[in-house]
Amino acid sequence: MKAQDGMYIDGAWRPAAGPDMIEVVNPADEQVIGRVPAGTPEDVDAAVRAARAALTAWAATPPAERAARISALRDVLVARQDEIAETVTAELGSPLSFSQSVQVGLPILVAGSYAELAATYAFEERVGNSTVHHEPVGVVGAITPWNYPLHQIVAKVAPALAAGCTIVLKPAEDTPLTAQLFAEAVHEAGVPAGVFNLVTGLGPVAGQALAEHEDVDLVSFTGSTAVGRQIGATAGAAVKRVALELGGKSANVILPSADLAKAVNVGVANVMANSGQTCSAWTRMLVHAERYEEAVELAAAAAVKYADRIGPLVNAKQRARVRGYIDKGVAEGARLVAGGPESTEPQGYFVSPTVFADVTPEMTIAKEEIFGPVLSVIRYEDEEEALRIANGTVYGLAGAVWAGDEAEAVAFARRLDTGQVDINGGRFNPLAPFGGYKQSGVGRELGAHGLAEYLQTKSLQF
Ligand code: NAD
Repeated sequence: MKAQDGMYIDGAWRPAAGPDMIEVVNPADEQVIGRVPAGTPEDVDAAVRAARAALTAWAATPPAERAARISALRDVLVARQDEIAETVTAELGSPLSFSQSVQVGLPILVAGSYAELAATYAFEERVGNSTVHHEPVGVVGAITPWNYPLHQIVAKVAPALAAGCTIVLKPAEDTPLTAQLFAEAVHEAGVPAGVFNLVTGLGPVAGQALAEHEDVDLVSFTGSTAVGRQIGATAGAAVKRVALELGGKSANVILPSADLAKAVNVGVANVMANSGQTCSAWTRMLVHAERYEEAVELAAAAAVKYADRIGPLVNAKQRARVRGYIDKGVAEGARLVAGGPESTEPQGYFVSPTVFADVTPEMTIAKEEIFGPVLSVIRYEDEEEALRIANGTVYGLAGAVWAGDEAEAVAFARRLDTGQVDINGGRFNPLAPFGGYKQSGVGRELGAHGLAEYLQTKSLQF
């Protein structure tokens, strides 16, 4: 695959400060497909200085012109979508059709939405005898994970550009090639030098240097709760803004009046998408005792159909982690009804689509985020118990409610401690705010709420 051997800083590809490289591996066949430089604190510092130098001019650029650049960026992503999708498939392993439709299709929609928002957002409003000015926060340090490599980048960079912020991006070390293509797209779109900068590298080195850099005004992080906690603490000590999109353990609550077959089939599809490497995946399926065995049979039959449709996990470490959880599920007494720790593929980091029945809320597989193709089906006796189980987790990112009647589902959804709920299989909306209650995070991405994360207010009284 094509790989740049430098960092994109101040509008050009520049040699990295240090000699170390990171190997990029195709998780489907375990072959090395490219190498990118492992950034050092020196690279991060050069990128932050470029972003700082570009800030005043970009913040003063009229919103309509910022919108035009984001629109041009969207057009480049559209023009290069095949190349980007092939790159995502090569470094993440997601099937090409999924890379095209979701991995690249979704960020194209999100970029388009921010081109429009940049042009229409009320950056100035009148409140009584004041004018309130929504001004850019400043230099943004963006740290992104590998699971939706382009989407995670666009969900931060597009609103930051719309707000008038400048950015330093440190993408995940497993998927840096997609990030490099994104940097090329930013360049082609005519975004001024220094407004967007890319430093590839390892989390505890380049990521940490970015999160700790004193000239970064806002750190926007998506990834694990463990690292998010650390970044939040660092930002707190420096009294700087922070946005955290972390893990999840979302509940798919199937109420007794629901269309069971539809709810189970859509629920299984949701968990298996991207091989379960989705923070908002509905990994706990809650079913009433009376229809429990029927649901388990449906779920097992549905999961088996994904055996030759899902890709591998991103790397050997994630596969070992997911297998460890499956072993733990068995050891703690859950009933394996589909899949298991092994896969039938001779090579690649594959795990079979797996379904556990007889899962209780105390089991490790019901509490911890697995980030693999593993579904836990949990029994409840009445609605109050379903609610207790659904809310009985440290996370609160997403979820689903199914009922025969939409109003019944909405009433239940209103009682869930979570940031997003799909009603009877409602479609993902890239304009609706996305983010977590509780330990799933701080702040929101997407739409106008996502844009507001990159703004601070100043009021002038008259
Ligand atoms: P991770 O936290 O290890 O890595 C995420 C990013 O942080 C990467 O770019 C990594 O290099 C960087 N990083 C790692 N250590 C760092 C440090 N000490 N300082 C600064 N940066 C550091 O997570 P991961 O393994 O890449 O992703 C899986 C996890 O991310 C899962 O728990 C998942 O739920 C979560 N996730 C959440 C969302 C969301 O939107 N809420 C989306 C995707 C993934």
